[in-house]
Amino acid sequence: MPNSNPSESIFSQLEAYGHKKVVFCSDPDTGLKAIIAIHDTTLGPALGGTRMWAYKTEADALYDVLRLSKSMTYKSAIAGLNLGGGKAVIIGDSRKDKSEALLRKFGRFIKNLNGEFITAEDVGTNPRDMEYIRMETQHVMGVPETIGGSGDPSPITALGVFMGIKACVKELYGVDTLTGKSVIVQGIGQVGENLVKLLRDENAKVFISDINEERLGQVSKKYNAEAVSNHKIFDIDADIYAPCALGATINTETIEKLKCAIVAGSANNQLQDESIHGQMLLDKGILFAPDYVINAGGIINCYSELMGFSKKRTMQLTENIYEATRNVLKLSKAESISTIEAANKIAEKRIADIKKVKSTY
Ligand code: NAD
Repeated sequence: MPNSNPSESIFSQLEAYGHKKVVFCSDPDTGLKAIIAIHDTTLGPALGGTRMWAYKTEADALYDVLRLSKSMTYKSAIAGLNLGGGKAVIIGDSRKDKSEALLRKFGRFIKNLNGEFITAEDVGTNPRDMEYIRMETQHVMGVPETIGGSGDPSPITALGVFMGIKACVKELYGVDTLTGKSVIVQGIGQVGENLVKLLRDENAKVFISDINEERLGQVSKKYNAEAVSNHKIFDIDADIYAPCALGATINTETIEKLKCAIVAGSANNQLQDESIHGQMLLDKGILFAPDYVINAGGIINCYSELMGFSKKRTMQLTENIYEATRNVLKLSKAESISTIEAANKIAEKRIADIKKVKSTY
């Protein structure tokens, strides 16, 4: 997880990120220490996952929740959803510190926000945890299908990433198909494996890497994908690099090594520094599909659940990621700006337009 800048005051951070509200949740009885950040609710209630992580400092937890909640605002805006951006973090080790009481107490804090914030699962939380939160509040999505939820969002997220990759391939090669293209998928977890399946179904050549050697062997065998060492992925001459593990893998060092024509994957915050590395990719002629544009399948799944889940509608909204990505690439080309700048502009415009609609009769 990223480190905070200890010299920045809380209010100067809120001002810099443009947050509407931040709630600190403390309950010594259950050991709950959580922060809920509501970035923007112009388009609708702030929806975002709850991450449980053993942050080194409280300042790191605040920094993470502010950064993540802001990107949720942009993700929902560009996906055309009527949702604002929010996120929550619970400070603690998800393997040791989680309990029913802690999660239900956290649920009560969400309940008190009267629908301004809706949560779902994230790193360190799972559908079972969402069930505990649901015992205290209705404002939680991502509960299991068996109790009327939308279930595991990963296949939908992978579909959205696949559509984003297709949009980039169309831009560079004039075709929609992945047949004959080569793709490196870094991280073959829930999303990565589903993406490998979609790519192989279209006869792409797929290289995979993961720190989990056992899983690497299994997925390689199952889909006939070539397993490569994590240290070697930037030496491979492939058309597309799909980061599906960690953020910040696109930085000054890796951009120099990258041999691919397209970067498009599911990992959040792939650019170590948006303003520097977005421009560096543009200068090197590498097409970057901004992560929050193409990994919106998860939030689309939650949105569907909120609206009364329909698999068909969810798939349609996810397939729209193709058009959303094409629009970003078009604007980037027209204005000679990086694709991340273009995506930010489109998201900010939608929010500004709807703000005007809501402020007038
Ligand atoms: P996951 O935990 O199931 O899978 C991550 C995989 O990456 C694991 O197999 C892990 O072993 C591997 N990994 C970890 N560190 C690695 C490294 N240094 N090098 C190579 N592999 C490494 O997670 P997921 O649900 O598949 O999500 C993948 C990424 O997509 C995450 O960044 C997540 O935030 C993002 N994302 C996921 C969803 C979703 O619906 N699951 C939605 C939006 C964004």
